[in-house]
Amino acid sequence: MWIDSHCHLNHIKIEEAGSPSDLIKRANDNGVDGMVSICCRISEEVDTLATIANGHDNVWFSIGTHPHDAGNEKEKAITTDEIIALVNRYDKCVGVGEAGLDYFYDNAPREDQKESFIKQINVAKETGLPLIIHTRDAEEDTIQILRDNGACDGKTKILMHCFSSNGTLARQSIDEGFTLSFSGMATFKKNTGLQDIIRSVPLNQILVETDAPYLAPMPHRGKTNEPAYVVHTGQFIADLYNITREELAQKTTTNFFNLFDKANKTLK
Ligand SMILES: [Zn+2]
Repeated sequence: MWIDSHCHLNHIKIEEAGSPSDLIKRANDNGVDGMVSICCRISEEVDTLATIANGHDNVWFSIGTHPHDAGNEKEKAITTDEIIALVNRYDKCVGVGEAGLDYFYDNAPREDQKESFIKQINVAKETGLPLIIHTRDAEEDTIQILRDNGACDGKTKILMHCFSSNGTLARQSIDEGFTLSFSGMATFKKNTGLQDIIRSVPLNQILVETDAPYLAPMPHRGKTNEPAYVVHTGQFIADLYNITREELAQKTTTNFFNLFDKANKTLK
């Protein structure tokens, strides 16, 4: 059993890959029995994500603002308490985010990104749900903000999603007890630095994800990604660890339910 810990079911174009129901069925047929569909804009996506999750077994979702969307006026207007209320309203909302900082694209002013990030750290601390972090070209500020806002207290659950940062942030994340999730990027031949990082992550701190529709793993690179493809990334990472695919599937699934423990309540 595999779990895709991070996908965007509602961003996958129906004309390219089918409806969310088609995608979920194909995933299930390939041994991917669960997935979390991740929110980027609270003001626009929560109803859609809740409907998809409520209509399918073992499909969960998160609530949060992506750093790219942190400058959006509607996102900025949503308060910490409002997000907490929303998170608690849905049994199938199991995480907060994706939050974080992206200084590569700088799609939102950095001050807005930081403010949104801190707001979501507080939601994660208040609700006990894991905070799903996107970080790109912002390693130092990411760890600093987490530390300054009490997220490195050993209790707050932190997931570094689609980990592709440097060895320093990898080491700090491992030491802080964060979970690191790896996507199809790990399977790209030239990413030897990332492959070395993966080998250094303790097996109880690792998850796999697609980040679909983005970043399809080999052998589907360049195509529309979908949750079913997480098995390719899983096979590749199992080989890096020199363990069987079944062992990695079991390990990452156990890790998933430890981290996203609210998902156990609605597990079918
Ligand atoms: Zn994402």
